[in-house]
Amino acid sequence: MFKLSSFRLRVFRECRRRYRYRYVEGMPTRPSAHNTMGAHVHNTLKAFFSLPEPEERTPERLLDLLLESWQQNRSGFSDLDDEERWRERAAAQMRTFAREHDLAARPLLLECYLATPISPQLALLGRIDRVDDDADGLHVIDYKTGRRPEEVDVQQLHLYTVMLERSLGRPVARASYLYLDDGTAWSACPQRRELEEALAEVNTAYNEIVNERDYPTTVGRHCSFCDYQSICPSREEIVGRRLHSGW
Ligand code: SF4
Repeated sequence: MFKLSSFRLRVFRECRRRYRYRYVEGMPTRPSAHNTMGAHVHNTLKAFFSLPEPEERTPERLLDLLLESWQQNRSGFSDLDDEERWRERAAAQMRTFAREHDLAARPLLLECYLATPISPQLALLGRIDRVDDDADGLHVIDYKTGRRPEEVDVQQLHLYTVMLERSLGRPVARASYLYLDDGTAWSACPQRRELEEALAEVNTAYNEIVNERDYPTTVGRHCSFCDYQSICPSREEIVGRRLHSGW
């Protein structure tokens, strides 16, 4: 069965050539500082909310857990100063989290991996960071370690909602992104029509993926985060666009 995650869908939508390199040819990606930091922050929050006694959940413990996680993987940084900058950013995110959010919350699920068939050929894959069982129903939460974008892409939350509802057989009342840099949240109550539209979009993308033969490049700001710039046939255009646009 073909498996699609929201990240994989986004890669396909942004640049089909990058999709080919990563998912068709299976070319490796380099460790990146942001991915390493993001993994540590997610590990820390999972370990923190797994502590059984709410009184153990102090801001100091949150920072201790971050440092413990950090020792396990220090890849992706250019040098020690670079690593220190990223570690301080992660620590700042944890301090902000401790200030802005309920540390005594008792999540129903933490880092929940789901694979949900949505047709005979296709399954959705996803890892939901956290699910709370709030008074008004299930609450899907996704932590974001990057900066809050000007426009929120809700597809990921809609797909998580579909997967969770089908897995637990219960409706989701709310879905949120928690932006850890500034401590803000973006929340919505997913509507049936929106969930159906998200599934239709996945099925459309699936049909395009299995019929794609050329995998054209699409140059844009996202090229800055692509591991395959050195082999990309559009690299000269990328250099020119970057000089012109400043990204
Ligand atoms: S560098 Fe840009 S255009 Fe080239 S494969 Fe990567 S994302 Fe696509």
